[in-house]
Amino acid sequence: MNRAGQIRVEGTVQGVGFRPFVYRLAHQHRLTGWTRNDTRGVDIFIQGAEKDTAAFLEELKSTAPPLARITRLISDEVAPDSTITDFQILESACGEAPMVDIARDTSICFQCLEEMNNPADRRFGHPFINCTNCGPRYTIIQKLPYDRPGTTMADFEMCAACRKEYEDPSTRRFHAQPVSCPDCGPQLSLGEGLDDPLETTIAALRAGKIVAVKGLGGFHLCCCADNEEAVQQLRCRKGREARPFALMVRDAKTASQFAEVSPKEAELLESIERPIVVVQALEKKRCAPSVAPGVNTLGIMLPYTPLHALLFSRGGFDALVMTSGNVSGLPLCKDNNEAMGLLKGMADVFLLHDRAIQTRLDDSIVRVLGGEPVLLRRARGYVPAPLPAPFDVDGLVALGGIMKSTVCVGRGQTAYVSQYIGTLENIETLEHMEATLNHLMEVLGVDPMTYVLDRHPGGFQNYLLPKGGLNEPVRIQHHHAHAAACLAENEVREPTLCFVFDGLGLGDDGTLWGGEILMSDLCGSRRLGHLELLDLPGGDAATRYPGRIAYAALSGLVSNADLNRVLYWLSSNDRKPLPNQPRTSSIGRLFDAVSALLNVCHEQTYEGQAAMELEAIVDPNVTGHYEVEPVKEDGLWLLPGKALLIQIFQALENGEERSAIAAKFHRTLARWIAAVARQESATRVGLSGGCFQNRLLFEWTRSALEEQGVEVLVHRRLSPGDECISYGQLITAGARRANRKNKEMNACV
Ligand SMILES: [Zn+2]
Ligand SMILES: [Zn+2]
Ligand SMILES: [Zn+2]
Repeated sequence: MNRAGQIRVEGTVQGVGFRPFVYRLAHQHRLTGWTRNDTRGVDIFIQGAEKDTAAFLEELKSTAPPLARITRLISDEVAPDSTITDFQILESACGEAPMVDIARDTSICFQCLEEMNNPADRRFGHPFINCTNCGPRYTIIQKLPYDRPGTTMADFEMCAACRKEYEDPSTRRFHAQPVSCPDCGPQLSLGEGLDDPLETTIAALRAGKIVAVKGLGGFHLCCCADNEEAVQQLRCRKGREARPFALMVRDAKTASQFAEVSPKEAELLESIERPIVVVQALEKKRCAPSVAPGVNTLGIMLPYTPLHALLFSRGGFDALVMTSGNVSGLPLCKDNNEAMGLLKGMADVFLLHDRAIQTRLDDSIVRVLGGEPVLLRRARGYVPAPLPAPFDVDGLVALGGIMKSTVCVGRGQTAYVSQYIGTLENIETLEHMEATLNHLMEVLGVDPMTYVLDRHPGGFQNYLLPKGGLNEPVRIQHHHAHAAACLAENEVREPTLCFVFDGLGLGDDGTLWGGEILMSDLCGSRRLGHLELLDLPGGDAATRYPGRIAYAALSGLVSNADLNRVLYWLSSNDRKPLPNQPRTSSIGRLFDAVSALLNVCHEQTYEGQAAMELEAIVDPNVTGHYEVEPVKEDGLWLLPGKALLIQIFQALENGEERSAIAAKFHRTLARWIAAVARQESATRVGLSGGCFQNRLLFEWTRSALEEQGVEVLVHRRLSPGDECISYGQLITAGARRANRKNKEMNACV
């Protein structure tokens, strides 16, 4: 007996080989009908014997292609259509607003890699090889539905052989939009117009030169990782004193010659997202010392484009430095001319190609904390995967914070957080944010109704607000946004005790917050306490020279002679009168002060340097802590930062090992959190803020809480740093809007 069904599939189902999979499955079960993409996902009509249609439905869910992610599947029984006698893939249906999720960029797959390395294959050595299971997606998409004319591959006309594969549902390249071959695809070139770009690049790298390489989401600056002179040259030309460079390493096995790579970390290295994985460097570093000075970690990634794979296989390299191709503080270069102009003084050679990059995407950075991956930077490979919203967030557009900014766009009950954009301190980054936002709204088909911003009135983002015609913008406090993001990621709506340990952010009372104890739900937060205020002598100068914070905190509490002896590195230059003296409760600044006090870092040349270098000297086997406990004053918890600094100072005077002091400092903070949670009778605690990128603080806090039976909520899909702010802003605005609607409805009843 014949049955017929109409099936709609939503989620990440376009550009991931879903329709050919449907086609093969239908044939396998002797079904007739059709399938097509539309702006909401994939539509399927099938008819055949009852057991065959049932088996089809079952396997549609259980055996979907690797890159597909089904969020919704609806199937209805309909009348059979006797005029349909075969199974076909129909043209995409356009018209209504796009509702489909956009696929992410993924690393080259094993089959494409084999073909590229096979001299008998027609794509032998083709640096732009891809198939429906791999290759560029978000970086080349200009509009939906995801078809070739909507990508930056539109200008490349397929040759007959490629078109045949593209149109044949039985091949791996059926409707693989970026499909190409050496005859019809993009080509490599050199800035200088020399022949044989790949060989010239390899020769230049071997000779210690610096090469700008155009990648998937932008340019890298690249040099040999074992050539100290080349690495120093790169630091000098980039004006980057100490911030670690990432390495690209031949394969996971080679990575283990540079670092301790756990099975979980190897899995991440080899995942289709191919992030930079922050791993523990081996004691005796195999790479040049200037790659990652002052820290005991390395950021390692594996080759992810066919071009990277060719560079390594032809060049025989084990490891290359691959750092963002940008001018310090400006966005990553993505266009050939832009790179040739801005990176002119940095690169000796430019390895270019003519496939345009639509969306600028940095490499993502992941670190395994407590056995699970935590994103430190979310970009290539991870965006634009959607995040959940527990209520309607349609038309809300959140513009994030100032540092490590992202934007977030709401559609229905789903939030789309952009890639890491950067710190909004110049017009170029603001333009990058604007382009990212407009593109995201365009491909999602979202018309903005309400903008959501940081409460800080001086935000750069104000320039992005349209003039008139829309709802009044909503402003959300920074640390509440952290807490809301953490709760929403974990799908928790109940009021929860949250610790936001962070850098500086403007608080409700106009002072600089950053070590906050909050009782938060998705609508708002109540401050239960904070770190004792620290002076910031000279404002920003105190962040750059953290010895100032230690000096200000301890002067008057210990003898000046002792203080001068310990803080001997405070140069005369740095003791000029300090007029501007804001105060802060930021835990990040407490880390800085301890780092300076222990003679670890006196000048920060990049954000988080003092804390990262402090973490690097910790002896994790030291289990002690300092005997200072949080106190409650006038109903507010106070985390006694100054008393802690005094104990650290005395430990130093007593000749205690710095590695032990640093360990006890981290353990004391973890104990503070556990103590407050215990006295507040919390059964569940949320952790957010940049300080929780610190592995020891993260792991020791979590185990201290779990030992007392507390459930710990942490960020899993976004960074605990300020990249999560836009999501928290959007969720909060959505929660308040939903509350208002509920009240209005109740009033009507
Ligand atoms: Zn492939
Ligand atoms: Zn071709
Ligand atoms: Zn923050």
